[in-house]
Amino acid sequence: MRLHTKTLLFFFILTGSLVLVLSAISLYSFQQFSLYTAERHARSVAESVKVGLTESMVNGTIAKRAEFLERLAHVPGIEGVRVVRGAAVTKQFGAGFDYERPEDGPETQVLTHGEAIFKVVEKNGAPVFRAIIPYTAGNQGLPHCMQCHEVSNGTVLGAISIDIPQSEVKRQAIFATTIISLSVLLVALLMLLVLRRQLRPLMETADAVSHVVTRALKGSFSGRVKQHSSDEIGDIAGNVNRLMEFLDDHLTTIGRRVGDLMGQHQQSTGNQLVATTEMVESLVEASQFKQAIEEDQNKQDVYLRLAKMLSDKYDFRYFSIYEVASSKNHMLPIVVDGQINAPCRWCDQQILIDSGACRAKRTGHEVNAVDFPDLCTMFRDDGKEEKHTHICLPIIQSGAVGCVVQMVIPAEQAQLARLLVPYIAVYLRETAPVLEGKRLMEHLRESSLRDAMTGLYNRRFLEEYATPLVATNQRRQSVFTVLMLDLDYFKQVNDTFGHEAGDKVLKTLAEILLKSVRSSDMLVRYGGEEFVIVLVDTSAEMALNVAEKIRAKVEETKISLPGTVLQKTISIGVAEFPTDADTFWQVIKYADVALYEAKDRGRNRVERFTPDMWKETSERY
Ligand code: GH3
Ligand code: MG
Ligand code: MG
Repeated sequence: MRLHTKTLLFFFILTGSLVLVLSAISLYSFQQFSLYTAERHARSVAESVKVGLTESMVNGTIAKRAEFLERLAHVPGIEGVRVVRGAAVTKQFGAGFDYERPEDGPETQVLTHGEAIFKVVEKNGAPVFRAIIPYTAGNQGLPHCMQCHEVSNGTVLGAISIDIPQSEVKRQAIFATTIISLSVLLVALLMLLVLRRQLRPLMETADAVSHVVTRALKGSFSGRVKQHSSDEIGDIAGNVNRLMEFLDDHLTTIGRRVGDLMGQHQQSTGNQLVATTEMVESLVEASQFKQAIEEDQNKQDVYLRLAKMLSDKYDFRYFSIYEVASSKNHMLPIVVDGQINAPCRWCDQQILIDSGACRAKRTGHEVNAVDFPDLCTMFRDDGKEEKHTHICLPIIQSGAVGCVVQMVIPAEQAQLARLLVPYIAVYLRETAPVLEGKRLMEHLRESSLRDAMTGLYNRRFLEEYATPLVATNQRRQSVFTVLMLDLDYFKQVNDTFGHEAGDKVLKTLAEILLKSVRSSDMLVRYGGEEFVIVLVDTSAEMALNVAEKIRAKVEETKISLPGTVLQKTISIGVAEFPTDADTFWQVIKYADVALYEAKDRGRNRVERFTPDMWKETSERY
């Protein structure tokens, strides 16, 4: 309830109570006073009647008592006077006039008991004070009753019944009570006006504080309270203003700084405090997200976590994460609608061969088709029933676009999604250095496992992958075959045409080998001009065919060198796991033994390992 209403209510209750109590008190007082006066008046009249009648008796005019009483009844303030004859007088002097007989119970009661009765009764609809006062025999003074009446002392001789009208008294009482009530009302009204005048600054300050606080709750701290006075109310206004200035200064600064961190400038509409809180929460979550992805094992885990964030936290059903290939000239879809390495669903196929076709990659800026439709060829209006739009955000790594996150949004959710962009951008900014680090680590690791000249895996790779290879093979109870290859008389190339020519021959050989094996096979530059091929899930019989094809291909390949064309041959040794040996390195060894055998048997040959070869070799050493 408002203070204004409370004050009014308080005054209504107070005034009402005062009027009621004062009216009750004044009416009661009037009543008591008028009863007391009426009784005294009645007793005086009774005494006068007694004196008058006694005089009449002494003077012998008692027969004319009726006229006397008639005159008395016309005295103002008296409505009627009657004398009622008691039993002793009736006995001595007869019944008297009719009106001298007791009229009702009270008169009989007074005559019997000798005690006066006073009461207010209703007569002809008007209040009347009725007094019935006994008239008893006494022997004091002269003349006295006993001189004429043959009764004992104290006998009730009669009673005087007097009616005194009360209408005027009642009217006066009501008039006075009305005047009192009106006075109270007037005083209360004056007090109300004075109090409201006194309370006005308090009420205005309270209203202003409420208004300012309401605005503050909506995020605006620019409201101020007018200071009406220099008392406590003024202090409240001053303190509220100081608090608002403080909040305005600090929260605006916090909001601006957080907005800067989010790369988002505060919007003038909406609750800035709520927006700032959301941004801070988002920054905290993004920082926690960063900690989590830093501990992830590889890039793929990071991409998956990013995908989970998009689907679980921001409810995106359709989205893609593209990586710019290390060659930088095309894009690879990494995650599509939550699936890792799924085929591209939301991209123009052109970006898979030319990264420049992707606007976000080309410009390094957000591509927002919600605000600017038709930016991407993929989403041009093609009359499809299900309308989607998209927002693409680049992830900048070391100053260049490393990835692009594409969110595909049903048209009706586009505006909501647009508002989420700054929040998602924070995650992407946190993700960028982590991805970059992991990319670098993977690159370093990859390069440490590859031979720089041919681009093939090196011996270190073989050492690392030997154990998992054998484990997988044993689990699947499969076989694999190792080919050990060595160019024949390669030294001569170096000696005759120089080292560069030798390198060219090695590169050509690497290309031939790459084309000859499946992607699941392992091709390793094992030493200078020695290569190892591990053909997974392949028996030695099948591997011999592959080896033969390689041998023939090398033999027929013409290698152009400055001023000449070369043709080289290759020798290949073949051994099978686990048939020939149950350890990887033993199989390598046996393949090498078979290779040695091929060399021994004239080169440009493929030889399958047989145990007797090993016997020979070991005998040789
Ligand atoms: P064989 O038929 O018995 O294998 O005769 P070979 O001449 O090929 O003999 P060997 O395998 O011992 O010769 C290896 C030569 O390969 C020695 C070395 O100079 C050369 N070589 C090793 N690595 C490289 C390289 O990276 N580039 C060049 N140009 N030559 C290399
Ligand atoms: Mg060699
Ligand atoms: Mg050789």
